[in-house]
Amino acid sequence: MSYWQPFDAAETAGLIAWRRALHEQPELSLVEHDTQRSLVATLRSFGLDPIPVGGTGLACELGRGESGQVLMLRADMDALPVQEQSGLAFASQRPGRMHACGHDAHMACLLAVAKRLATHANAIAGKVILAFQPGEEDGQGAVKMMADGLLDGTWCGRPELAVQAALGLHVWSKLPTGTISAVAGPIMAAVDDFHIVVKGCGGHGALPHQTRDAVVAGAAVVQALQTLASRRIDPLDPVVVTVGSIQGGTTFNVVAETCELRGTVRTFSPDLYERLPAMLTELAAKTAEAYECTAKTTYRRYAIALHNDPGEVERVARVAEGARGVVAIDRQMRMMGGEDFAFFAEKVPACFFFVGCGPLGTASEPHHSPRFVIDEAALPIAAEVMLRAVADFFG
Ligand SMILES: [Zn+2]
Ligand SMILES: [Zn+2]
Repeated sequence: MSYWQPFDAAETAGLIAWRRALHEQPELSLVEHDTQRSLVATLRSFGLDPIPVGGTGLACELGRGESGQVLMLRADMDALPVQEQSGLAFASQRPGRMHACGHDAHMACLLAVAKRLATHANAIAGKVILAFQPGEEDGQGAVKMMADGLLDGTWCGRPELAVQAALGLHVWSKLPTGTISAVAGPIMAAVDDFHIVVKGCGGHGALPHQTRDAVVAGAAVVQALQTLASRRIDPLDPVVVTVGSIQGGTTFNVVAETCELRGTVRTFSPDLYERLPAMLTELAAKTAEAYECTAKTTYRRYAIALHNDPGEVERVARVAEGARGVVAIDRQMRMMGGEDFAFFAEKVPACFFFVGCGPLGTASEPHHSPRFVIDEAALPIAAEVMLRAVADFFG
């Protein structure tokens, strides 16, 4: 029996049971303590020895190792501040917390992969690093694990375990079950977060000429920011500028002294990634100045754009064709969403691929929706594709 053969009914039932147990107990970014504990117990039951890395993350290694090849497999762990409305029997038992992005499925798939590999560890000439990563949604988890030496072997004091390639996956509800998406180059955008404080001078709502209205200036800044994408940037270079929140003033007859805007910028190209912070900051300041107000911008960077290595993508696309239940390989999907697997992919050749989990013919809810559900038939497909890629990597 090879370690990459399709999952049988009993294994699939076990995989789904792990996923449902994790789904019931979601935890937010970087506080995945119970999740970490539960993963440690399951991994130890396979004879593995996971070590905490990056706070609430985990890593463990397996394989004979003599070939010197090291491949990392990564699953993210965190849930979202969403009140679940899925109606599922195994819905979240934690109010205001939900695995609404499918990271429960990613963990369960990596557990299934871990169990297979642990049973066949002697068949692996190199080393596999299993990485369970906290804090994907807030973009901090990958960086925290790297700071603990995840990629250079220092997480366990063994430089010979420096990672040479990495694989990660995401279930995707807008792709039908049976479709795998593997696309080379930039596939997910850089994620930035801006916070603009527009400051004027408050006063009486009936005497506007004695004030400098921060709400009017703030509204002008919102409008001006739309022109970054529509007038300032090459239409062939993808960019999104979204103002997601605007807060100003206190009541109907008082001119607001301050108005605060929060939003996000998404880019693919390194050129725009470099230029956007200064462009946005200057545009906000000069627009506010036209209204005799000021605008101070705080600009934070969450994740860089995710670039898939063409060679690793070809490997995944090639092996996926042989996996049970795979009916289509998509080679085009890119999106302006972000993913901090990008920080691993910046350091080593990597493939981050998508696994369709939307039942055919049914309208699927988007990720992060309170009604988000997945087709669990996608799970054994995802795990088998991952195992086949491992087998191909080690030849
Ligand atoms: Zn998400
Ligand atoms: Zn996600």
